[in-house]
Amino acid sequence: MSDGERERQGPNTRLAHAGWNPRDFHGFVNPPVVHASTVLFPDAATKASRNQKYTYGTRGTPTTDALAGAIDELEGSAGTIAVPSGLAAVTIPLLAFLSSGDHVLIVDSVYHPTRNFADSMLKRLGVDVEYYGPGVGAGIGDLMKANTKVVFTESPGSNTFEMQDIPAIAAVARERGAVVMMDNTWATPLYFRPLDHGVDISIHAATKYPAGHSDVLLGTVSANERCWPRLWDTHLAMGCCAAPDDVYQVLRGLRTMGVRLERHQASALEIARWLETQPGVAKVLHPALEGFEGHHLWKRDFNGSSGIFSIVLDGGGTPEAHAFLDALRLFGLGYSWGGFESLAVHVNLSDRTIAKAPQGGPLIRLQIGLEDVDDLKADLARALDAARNAN
Ligand SMILES: *Cc1c(COP(=O)(O)O)cnc(C)c1O
Repeated sequence: MSDGERERQGPNTRLAHAGWNPRDFHGFVNPPVVHASTVLFPDAATKASRNQKYTYGTRGTPTTDALAGAIDELEGSAGTIAVPSGLAAVTIPLLAFLSSGDHVLIVDSVYHPTRNFADSMLKRLGVDVEYYGPGVGAGIGDLMKANTKVVFTESPGSNTFEMQDIPAIAAVARERGAVVMMDNTWATPLYFRPLDHGVDISIHAATKYPAGHSDVLLGTVSANERCWPRLWDTHLAMGCCAAPDDVYQVLRGLRTMGVRLERHQASALEIARWLETQPGVAKVLHPALEGFEGHHLWKRDFNGSSGIFSIVLDGGGTPEAHAFLDALRLFGLGYSWGGFESLAVHVNLSDRTIAKAPQGGPLIRLQIGLEDVDDLKADLARALDAARNAN
C-alpha cells in the first residue's frame, strides 16, 4: 500500500495493519516471535561486509521491525527503537543527546523517575539540569542558554495534567539549536502526534495503553530524520534492547488499542464530569474538562483524551486519603496504568519546585479501566463517603 493511501486511512484501520504484511511470512496474520542472538551468514565475504538485513539479535529482528514499523506509521517518524521499559525510553534519548557541560531544560510536572534520573545520573555526568514551569510556552527562549542541548516536555504533566504549548516550545527551542523531546505516554500516537508539532523525539511507556493488560514492560522512542541516526547509534552502544516476547505482546496490544482507548476515554470523561458534582471533591484535574486550565491547548492540539486523571479531595490529609483508598473494592491500589482494570493512588508531589501540588486536600490519581461505569461510580461514591467520615 502506498504511503499516501495509508495516510488517508482511519486510526483503527492503521492500527490493524501497520508494521506487518502477512505475505512476508507465509500469510500468517501475525509476525513470528524471533528469539535470537546469533544470525548466520552464508559465506565469509558476507560476514566480513555484514551485507545482509539482520546481523545480530541486539540489532533488530523481524519481530522488533514489525513493532518499530507500526509505531513509525502511527508517529510519522523516521525510526523507532524498542527498549525494556518506559523509563529506558526516557533515559536513552537523554543520554544520546546530552554530554558533560550541556544544559537541559525539563518540565517540572515530569514523571517522577525522569526527574530522579536527571538529578542523579545526568548531574553526576556533568549536565546542568534545570526545571521550568509547564505554562512556559514561547517563554522557553528566555530560559535557554548557549549550551542548552535538550528541552524535555511531557503533556499533560504526570499526576496533575498541566498542558504544555508544545508547538510554541518546539518552535523556539529548535530555532535555538536544541533537540525537543516529549514523553507522549498519556495521549498515545492516536490522540497526539508530537513530530507533527515540531518535536524531534517522541517517547512512550508502551507498558501503558499499547500493552494494555498490566503484564508487560516496554518503551518506544521515535525520532525524525535529523535525530534518528544518533538515537539508533546510542541504542546499539547501550545494548538496551527489548525482549522478543514483550515486543510481540505490545504489537498484539496495538491492534486493539483504538477500541480500548475509546472506552477508556468515554468512561473517564463520564466519571470525571460526575465527580465534579459530588460532595467531597474539591477539583477534578482532566484536560478535556471545559473548566480545566489549559483545556484550550488540549482542544487545539489533541484528538482525544485517555483514561487517567486526578481529583483533589475537599479538605483533609493522609487519614482521609487512606480512608478513601481503603474503601475501594474495584479500584486496585497500585502503580502504572493503561491496563483493563481501574486503579487509584495517593499522589505525593513533594519533588515539585514550580508546578506545586493543588491546595485544599489530598490528590488522588484515578485510572479508569474497562469495567462498567455504574459499578465504578458506586465504588467511588463509597470511597468519598469513607473519606468524609474519616478521622
Ligand atoms: C509509566 C510511565 C513511564 C515509565 O514506564 P515504565 O514502563 O513503567 O518504566 C514513563 N513516562 C510516563 C509518563 C509514565 O506514565
